[in-house]
Amino acid sequence: MQPASLFLGHGSPMTLFEPSPTRAFLTTLAGRFARPDAILVVSAHWQAARPSLTAAAFPATIHDFEGFPAELYRATYPAPGSPALARRVADLLARQGLAADLDHARGLDHGAWIPLGLAWPAAKVPVVQLSLLAGKNASAHMALGRALRPLARENVLVVGSGNLTHNLGEAIAWMRSGGRGDAAWASEFAGAMGQAVLGGDDKALAEWETAMPHARRAHPTSEHLLPLHVVHGAGGGAARLLFDAMEMGSLSMAAYAFDPVDAAAV
Ligand code: ZN
Repeated sequence: MQPASLFLGHGSPMTLFEPSPTRAFLTTLAGRFARPDAILVVSAHWQAARPSLTAAAFPATIHDFEGFPAELYRATYPAPGSPALARRVADLLARQGLAADLDHARGLDHGAWIPLGLAWPAAKVPVVQLSLLAGKNASAHMALGRALRPLARENVLVVGSGNLTHNLGEAIAWMRSGGRGDAAWASEFAGAMGQAVLGGDDKALAEWETAMPHARRAHPTSEHLLPLHVVHGAGGGAARLLFDAMEMGSLSMAAYAFDPVDAAAV
């Protein structure tokens, strides 16, 4: 089954170079599916007041991280953009009452290009990035995703890049303390969210802040979780777990695929 959308954990930028189960998963990801004609990626690292789309023919590689080795700042992901896809997505959003902006200057942030660079290293598949909606809740991001459903029939893969759990302070404390075992609170949250994802439980996903255990410990801020709501909305059919791992004690790298909503009728 060709999924309509994927959720990927991006974790540390060093995943680009350092061997890990997550890196091994990402480097075999593209081989599981037919080649998409284009990718629309939503990352934790771009929020805007209105939905915004990269519209450059050749989006730059943004190195939006600090304190990493020089080789990471030299790495680029030269996938072409697709101004036509950016316009198409803006049109789909407009039909749902969401006025979008085309950003002709912005490139791809590391939440977008690092996982895509591992999964599609030839950089031949055009990539457009869509922003998160600054200050908007899970329901708004699920609606944003639902507006993208026609893309599945156009062989455009929607990719959400964040983390199922993301508390950097806790992860750093875990490493400084010698790093043993996984944090129970992170596993509980990831387990409950995973059940909601696999069960297609819109209500639990929309109300994650109150419905899920340890919600604000797992996400002191929401931006690494909300790409999941977008790709859940963009799918609508069955969801399946592609990969699961916990890094740094509490950083879930779980990845999911979402079938298109009309798959059962095919
Ligand atoms: Zn991130």
